[in-house]
Amino acid sequence: MADIIRLLPDHVANQIAAGEVVQRPASVVKELLENAIDAGSTEIKLIVKDGGKTLIQVVDNGKGMSVTDARLSFERHATSKIEKAEDLFNLNTKGFRGEALASIAAIAHVEMMTKTEADEVGTHIKIEGSKISSQEVAVVPKGTSMLVKNLFFNIPARRNFLKSDQVEYRHITDEFHRVALAHPQIAFHFYNNGGEVFILPSNDFRKRIVNIFGRKANEKLVPVREDTQVVRISGFVQKPEFAKKSRGEQFFFANNRFIKSPYLHHAVLGAFEGLIRPGTHPGYFLSLEVDPSTIDINIHPTKTEVKFDDEHTLYAYIKSAVKHSLGQFNVVPALDFEQDQNLDTPYAHQNKQVPTPKVSVNAGFNPFKDETHTVSNGGSYTKTSAKGWENLYEGLNVNKQEFRPSTIAFESEEINSTIFDSEKDQGNRVTTTFQLRKKYIITTIKSGMVVINQSRAHQRVLYENFLKNITIKEAVSQQLLFPLSLSFSKIELDILKEIKDNLCAVGFVFGEIGAETVEVRGVPVVVVESEVQMVMEQLISDFQMEISADSFSQSDMLAKTLSKTLSVKTGEFLDDRSQMALVNDLFACKEATLSPFNKRTYVIITENDIDRKFI
Ligand code: ADP
Ligand code: MG
Repeated sequence: MADIIRLLPDHVANQIAAGEVVQRPASVVKELLENAIDAGSTEIKLIVKDGGKTLIQVVDNGKGMSVTDARLSFERHATSKIEKAEDLFNLNTKGFRGEALASIAAIAHVEMMTKTEADEVGTHIKIEGSKISSQEVAVVPKGTSMLVKNLFFNIPARRNFLKSDQVEYRHITDEFHRVALAHPQIAFHFYNNGGEVFILPSNDFRKRIVNIFGRKANEKLVPVREDTQVVRISGFVQKPEFAKKSRGEQFFFANNRFIKSPYLHHAVLGAFEGLIRPGTHPGYFLSLEVDPSTIDINIHPTKTEVKFDDEHTLYAYIKSAVKHSLGQFNVVPALDFEQDQNLDTPYAHQNKQVPTPKVSVNAGFNPFKDETHTVSNGGSYTKTSAKGWENLYEGLNVNKQEFRPSTIAFESEEINSTIFDSEKDQGNRVTTTFQLRKKYIITTIKSGMVVINQSRAHQRVLYENFLKNITIKEAVSQQLLFPLSLSFSKIELDILKEIKDNLCAVGFVFGEIGAETVEVRGVPVVVVESEVQMVMEQLISDFQMEISADSFSQSDMLAKTLSKTLSVKTGEFLDDRSQMALVNDLFACKEATLSPFNKRTYVIITENDIDRKFI
């Protein structure tokens, strides 16, 4: 039989390698920025168009390349950064595989202009699909400019697989943040579609963070510093009260390289334990310096996973350094009744029954009356968990409105007649409810009992309500007495502008949108004023990755996010009225069986099921 194994032609091999290295425009941005850094640049410009699909350009003032190197740089496994295998264990550069330029040139139109200090003139090379189409002498300044056009022009399947321009742009921004944060001393300029996004002068770490995330970032930061034999830890954590519902600003850098490490992340979480509410995430910018020989970054081509020799020790150091900083800067909150209890009560004390103080109050006077009433089918249920000072007065019967069955009516007759016991008195189908482990609401029905997951059920109710509001554009909004001025970073405000119309449709009312702030004048009725910032942040972070051009999926996503954020959670106590209202609202929904995220909202346990247990 004839031999059948053949070596792949170079351009095919390159295309295959490109699949590993270049997943999306952001991967190109990362590789080019890293090359510019490895070249010793002090100033780097990034220019992108259409989410990087049509153009990505990186211009640096680094050491440049000679004519021969310029040409060689596009060969696979061509690198100036390592010579022998041992070098891999002592890396001081970002790159080392010599694959990036070869991969990029295999799947895009690439133009490079480069010149070294020593050379009189530079080189201009054009290369498309791994083939050099022109090479000329060029008069250019010292440094390198890489222009990457029409990514995946020769692999339509990959090109079609790319997300919308906005989503790809967000990935690029993320990548840019990581690189710019890892190298505060290098100046960066970033332009998108002709507009300036960031001008970051050479700075220290703190100022770089503030330049990227906006002025409001500064007050949140607590410095962390610890020098040990194994590792030098430096950087910042965000004060616990700024912990967000979404995982936002969490950055680890190891030897000036952005890394992901669930294990070390856990160490930081450990240090914050007891200081932040469950379900919220602390922000951090932590830089680790270790001996390059004790770290292996060779695990994955995209190189964000790394392996440390002594992870356990690192874990312990990080945890104690962060803990120490949080303590030292006195951010462990003290009880202060002037302020919002939500922020100030150490987590361990939240939700605990506070002994009723003997205070005499005018029971008729309650400025917050409107905030705690139960809305049928509107979706706000009285939560007892840490809503504010009212908790302290539990037992005094302040604002205990009587539950009036007549206000709760079923809208869906079918469900009434099929599920609920119709022999019971009219208009008030649900007679008794019981909350189990602050998680389930149990009530009886004709055939037995129904167990409702309170959080999912409430998500369903809110979701349908929001979708309806968006569709008919008749949301009820509550005007704020004093408009709120909320601070956001540039990126966040961009997203806000994109989803603004839909936000207005659900009841948000905006005033002026400035460079770093937005004025909120009204909010949907179900949103409590103290939660506005948190809700907006959650919305923005959800949309950050998934902006969709079509307005249906935008509305759907908005309704989903709002319902997820605002719903009653597991662990929240619901009083009888709220339990009943929730049950009634759920079964008035079009799609009562499933949450907006396709999870079961309730299960029915029939009398038969129970009987069988007794056999
Ligand atoms: P790697 O970075 O892994 O070495 P690349 O394919 O990214 O591989 O780059 C190949 C080589 O091209 C590098 O080793 C470097 O010598 C040269 N090079 C790439 N970009 C630049 C740049 N911006 N300035 C100077 N030299 C560069
Ligand atoms: Mg490289």
